[in-house]
Amino acid sequence: MSAPTKPLAPASADQAQFLSVLSRGEALARWTAALDPRPLGRETAPLEACLGRVLARSVAAPIDVPPFDRSQMDGFAVRSADLATATDDAPVRLVLNAETIACGVSPALAVAAGTATPIATGGPMPRGADAVMMIEHTDPDGDAAIWVRRSAPPGGAMAYAGSDMARGEVVLRGGAVLGAREIGMLAACGVAAVEVWRRPRVAVLSTGDELVQSGSPLGPAQIYDSNGPIVAAALAENGCEPVRFGAVPDNADALEAALRDAHARCDAVILSGGTSKGAGDLTYRLIDRLGSPGIVAHGVALKPGKPLCLAVCNGKPVVVLPGFPTSAMFTFHDIVAPVLRRLAGQPGRAEASVEARVPVRVASELGRTEFVMASLTRAEDGLVAFPVSKSSGAVSSFSQADGFLTIDALHDGLDAGSTRTVTLLDPGHRPPDLVIVGSHCVGLEPILDELALAGVLSRSIPVGSLAGLAALGRGECDIAPIHLMDPKSGEYNRAFVPEGAVLIRGWDRPQGLVFRAQDERFAGLSLQQALERAADDPLFLMVNRNPGSGTRILIDRLLGGRKPDGYWNQPRSHNAVGAAVAQRRADWGVTIKPVADAYGLGFLPILDERYDFVVRRSRVESPPVRAFLSALQAPETVAALQRIGFKPVSDPA
Ligand code: AMP
Ligand code: MG
Repeated sequence: MSAPTKPLAPASADQAQFLSVLSRGEALARWTAALDPRPLGRETAPLEACLGRVLARSVAAPIDVPPFDRSQMDGFAVRSADLATATDDAPVRLVLNAETIACGVSPALAVAAGTATPIATGGPMPRGADAVMMIEHTDPDGDAAIWVRRSAPPGGAMAYAGSDMARGEVVLRGGAVLGAREIGMLAACGVAAVEVWRRPRVAVLSTGDELVQSGSPLGPAQIYDSNGPIVAAALAENGCEPVRFGAVPDNADALEAALRDAHARCDAVILSGGTSKGAGDLTYRLIDRLGSPGIVAHGVALKPGKPLCLAVCNGKPVVVLPGFPTSAMFTFHDIVAPVLRRLAGQPGRAEASVEARVPVRVASELGRTEFVMASLTRAEDGLVAFPVSKSSGAVSSFSQADGFLTIDALHDGLDAGSTRTVTLLDPGHRPPDLVIVGSHCVGLEPILDELALAGVLSRSIPVGSLAGLAALGRGECDIAPIHLMDPKSGEYNRAFVPEGAVLIRGWDRPQGLVFRAQDERFAGLSLQQALERAADDPLFLMVNRNPGSGTRILIDRLLGGRKPDGYWNQPRSHNAVGAAVAQRRADWGVTIKPVADAYGLGFLPILDERYDFVVRRSRVESPPVRAFLSALQAPETVAALQRIGFKPVSDPA
């Protein structure tokens, strides 16, 4: 199967919402053909404001650097011919001239044969002198003369005028990105301002009735606008000047006004959201009315990122990024940034990649180029790339990832154990010192904080207890945190420790039945009473947990085969249970104490769940693991765990 490359649908009204998916290459080709991206124009920038800017014309040195012949050493300006025979055994005596040349002091006296003038590093060479003798090879002979024990080649220990940069020589070529070193060169030859490419001003608009700007409180059903800040920061990273227009409601008049304003005031417009059917139609019709040729690609065979829409309106690029933040980031970096960089005069982005083993199979959809975020860790046989498995709605997958895997449109996935190229998100990536793969727990946070303060770079990859043990078995992590109950003995964790690993005790996490504290129906009930009442009364709605989780085993035991209303609502985390009950999507569920507290819920304790650490025996003595174990036992950690309702276990395993 090949990447679908269908032509654009004709723009008839009833086909406006038809998404004709183009391959990545075709979409880019159409967009760049319509836009012809090139730098927007030159402007003059003072040196203080040109870090990261791109030089729009080559710069020639207006003066010689250094501007005069100068000394490279502290010593004496001499005539080399005087010293041709000087050695330790036969030193040569030179009479001192009556001046000392410091930096910034013009010499007044010439150096005649048989004389020398004291000179500091950076001091201008006096007339007659052709070399500098360093002070270490001389001895004073009273105040007025010196003995010299070495010869000096002509030009020795001095620099000639223009030897660094010669007047008229091109010192920086147009297209150079100005960093500290380039700014240093310009400053050295006295350049106070340079011509740089004008930074494209790019309008950033978020669309959606649900969006709130961070800093303001969230109402029900609202979320924070993350795309706005993400896109603005990414624009700045790519040499553009973001102009924030905030979030516009899903309303034709508001959107049209904002779009027209943005298009008139800026060089490019980037919208995000509003790409779903229905709401989307509105955006696309408005964009087509902004100017010709309008939309050139709508729907690109990328995952994430299919709803991407690319347009050019009267010579200015207009883009609609998908609403989901991860999709928005990917499409921005993959498709939009390279084109905007050309408008900014910025060179193509430097990309770095590494080869890494992919430990698990990664499925992929045929027909779309798929990008999979990956966390890198170092195993005994090289780097390992764990896919960061989150939905395309997850913002955090970007920050937990070090890079991404690319699965091309013709493949339906990557096999477990295959070695792949990972494109690094940050070319200066450093793998973590300590890798923790398994079940995640809020109790880990104070420990990881402690490690960070101690300079140990750690990475916790939450994949669940069993997958953590598997990673430990493959040598891909140092520590696997687990909470697994042995159904036979009822004991936690000990039975699951594999050969070659040791168990380190962690803490007990009280689990309980949670309900809204104001819910009168639970007032004064014991756990047993609450359970009987809630499980049998159809007016009570429960929230369950996903099969395979320890909490689910507990819930099923408590229910003894009953399946009350809400049983099929099976979220994957303790927090989701707390949120469901607090927000009245359910009346009761089972979760851990800190979550109950965070949501202000009533809590009837059921039992303590043990959360422990399985450590590879070969790594127990490694400095990062030792740092982890000492952070685990630190009094601050114990206190922090107790504060959130956990019970640290001090007895040895
Ligand atoms: P849409 O394309 O508007 O249908 O949005 C798709 C998804 O992305 C929805 O869950 C939106 O709430 C979410 N979304 C849209 N815009 C933003 C944004 N600026 N920040 C965070 N999430 C967003
Ligand atoms: Mg929306």
